[in-house]
Amino acid sequence: MKKKYYKKHKEYIFPCVANYYEEPLVLEKAEGKYMTDVEGNEYLDFFGGILTVSIGHCKPAITEKVVNQMKTLQHCSTLYQNKPALDYAEKLAQITPGKLQKSFFTNSGSEANETAVVLAQLATGREEIITLRHAYSGASTITMAMTAHSHYRLGVNLGMFKYAHNAYCYRCAFGKKYPDCDLECARDVEELIKTTTRGKIAAFFAEPIQGVGGFITPPKEYFKEVEKIIRKYGGLFICDEVQTGWGRTGSKMFGIEHYGVEPDIMTFAKGAANGLPIGGTIAIPEVADKFTGAHISTFGGNPVSTAAALATVEFIEENNIPENCQIVGDYLREKLAELQEKYPVIGEVRGMGLMQALEIVKEKKEPDAGTVVRIFEETKKRGLLIGKGGLYGNVIRISPPMTVDKRDVEEAIKILDAAFESVFR
Ligand code: PMP
Repeated sequence: MKKKYYKKHKEYIFPCVANYYEEPLVLEKAEGKYMTDVEGNEYLDFFGGILTVSIGHCKPAITEKVVNQMKTLQHCSTLYQNKPALDYAEKLAQITPGKLQKSFFTNSGSEANETAVVLAQLATGREEIITLRHAYSGASTITMAMTAHSHYRLGVNLGMFKYAHNAYCYRCAFGKKYPDCDLECARDVEELIKTTTRGKIAAFFAEPIQGVGGFITPPKEYFKEVEKIIRKYGGLFICDEVQTGWGRTGSKMFGIEHYGVEPDIMTFAKGAANGLPIGGTIAIPEVADKFTGAHISTFGGNPVSTAAALATVEFIEENNIPENCQIVGDYLREKLAELQEKYPVIGEVRGMGLMQALEIVKEKKEPDAGTVVRIFEETKKRGLLIGKGGLYGNVIRISPPMTVDKRDVEEAIKILDAAFESVFR
């Protein structure tokens, strides 16, 4: 059975697709926290299709609303408005931090980030944007250029982005140790502006926790410090919540809320509609109102995706999902710390809420991507899906649907433990 699909995969799909495992995993169905492949093997999903299945696969609460919407109004384009898109936009204005209020909908995180870049440029009349090393911003031309991983850039380069050192305490670019470092990485942003821009920037753009970068989690004072510098040079603060949104980081709805900064522009995608394609850019009115002129997204804000997104966020609110992420995330963190004591290859455990990572290293913190590959095969064999990340491919990312409980964590930890055990036996 699976051989037939491997053959099709090789013959008809670009080779960049589905390369997580030695043989591609071909999935057939899913329900709740579990996915099933074409041979009937079941997997506990602890990556959620890259932090996208927010509240469980094929959730009836969402599916029913989507099906109803499909039967009522499926498409109309941004030439017209529709009820679910307007209701969702209003909801976003209520739950996003600070004065964020007006939205533009797209189909993906890449488009949401491109929109944010264009908006910042239109609103400030400036071009240059500070982004962070190790960031991942998307697969379109502009967002590939914003992405600071050679691996994902595929030959694209644009002069308008300047790449600041990220707050990667485990591998501090300045050789310092938090909290005695005086946040040198944040303060270096000023030097970057003075030396590599015209001295006037359009914006600073960052993920609160760098997702693809390997859940790199800045210290709590970092963004406030950067914000001061950004404001001094007249730039806007843009926050990419594509991975960190919807309660994922615990207690709060959005990652940036842990840092006490109110962004001027925020982007979201992935988990917003629990697996249906959607992206969005929300901004404070003074900024959003600068986006005049002709601009279309044929499918952006379509009634089906926005109905799914509205149902998802309502579920998240009604079931206090941010709190669940905090409680179950703390438990997961505790269990991962126990694994770290057992296996010295786990150099660091980091993250927030249900967004936790293990950085795998050899001696002297040398990145160990080989071990991650082996752990992946072993976890797959035992029925657990996890994610990979990091500039060096040596980070294991764990981000299950945000509805998991402590028993699910125990099941995942048991499999992870067995996988490490089998690699290091
Ligand atoms: N921003 C971040 C932080 C992401 O992780 C991603 C996707 N991994 C994107 C943007 C791009 O989203 P999409 O793949 O939906 O274009």
